[in-house]
Amino acid sequence: MKIETKCIQAGYVPKNGESRLMPIVQSTTFKYDTSEDMGKLFDLEASGYFYTRLQNPTNDYVAAKIAALEGGTAGMLTSSGQAASFYSVFNIAGCGDHVVASSTIYGGTFNLFNVTMRRMGIDFTFVDPDCSDEELEAAFKPNTKCVFGETLANPALIVFDIERFANAAHAHGVPLIIDNTFATPINCRPIEFGADIVTHSTTKYMDGHDASVGGCIVDSGKFDWNKHADKFPGLTTPDESYHGITYTEKFGLAGAFITKATAQLMRDFGSIQSPMNAYLLNLGLESLAVRMDRHCSNALKVAEYLEASDLVSWVNYPGLKSNKYYERAQKYMPNGTCGVISFGVKGGREAASSFMKNLKVAIIATHVADAHTCILHPASSTHRQLTDEELIASGVSPDLVRLSVGIENVDDIIADIDQALKAI
Ligand SMILES: *Cc1c(COP(=O)(O)O)cnc(C)c1O
Repeated sequence: MKIETKCIQAGYVPKNGESRLMPIVQSTTFKYDTSEDMGKLFDLEASGYFYTRLQNPTNDYVAAKIAALEGGTAGMLTSSGQAASFYSVFNIAGCGDHVVASSTIYGGTFNLFNVTMRRMGIDFTFVDPDCSDEELEAAFKPNTKCVFGETLANPALIVFDIERFANAAHAHGVPLIIDNTFATPINCRPIEFGADIVTHSTTKYMDGHDASVGGCIVDSGKFDWNKHADKFPGLTTPDESYHGITYTEKFGLAGAFITKATAQLMRDFGSIQSPMNAYLLNLGLESLAVRMDRHCSNALKVAEYLEASDLVSWVNYPGLKSNKYYERAQKYMPNGTCGVISFGVKGGREAASSFMKNLKVAIIATHVADAHTCILHPASSTHRQLTDEELIASGVSPDLVRLSVGIENVDDIIADIDQALKAI
């Protein structure tokens, strides 16, 4: 099946007489005829459901659909993108271990790694995604357990060289984890370029309608944990908290990573997505291919308009030929990147703030990547406590506006920006 067909058909296949639309199984628990039947589930001897904190049929249908879209072997939903990032790393790295991560990852992920997971005893080295080979090589340590990067960095829009980082990770016997939130599998499938595990904040384009917060992890099934068994004892030696099961032995490379994340992390941390949200997410996924196409064509037109405007000092959109990452974006995302653009309003902080007040169609929101065009001026909102100098040091210039182009008619979006710029 082609990807547009998978958006509709993958994950849930109704049998004779069953509901056409994926059903919501809004139930915390599941009934069994005998306690022996249920015992088999607890021992992971049979597959089935007993309690929604671990697994739920609706969530599994949706996870299977996203795994199919990414070209992976198994997937799991989480309550948020943050939970997905956390589980993906914590499933293979613990106290005393080390992780190499791109320095331009989403701020929430950076904080999770650099503050909270450091407190758990995990060490991180952050590397510039465009660093030299020597710098990348020097980032690895004997206790490194994985490499983490973002296809399209939120909000810097840096295109990550997935192949290069996959080769470096594999040379050190560890997997590459890619947060593919902004590109979505419609525009980029990191597994095809060597990534081993893919994560998502499904809150963004996948849900796409501002309706539900969620996350997802997909495993490619390609990383050979057994070949590097000494590095990954959690997958290759018996789990005493689960009746001595060895995940790679029992579930193979295709299922070991996700089964361990479900059986241990979901069991203990409980960041499950509610079946109702998974149902809403599925509705978003059905139209994902159509929406991404529109987000990208709208954003390109808006970016071209901004680039031509005298009232704008700079535009950052990897779909523009003038962009530093244009060539790399063509390699990884030939059909388009995403709908997010950043640009500078001439006149700095004051001018940008007045531009924001003049907008009528674009909604002021901290959110990005959904059907509604929304916009944020960090210097007058999220970053308002910082001086101009502090802003520049944190990589957010005072004139920077982040625009997430929606799927409205592009003429209305451009007309709105045009009148708002002219009225400054
Ligand atoms: C929003 C976002 C996250 C965090 O996701 P939540 O669903 O808000 O927890 C992670 N990565 C990227 C790239 C994001 O944009």
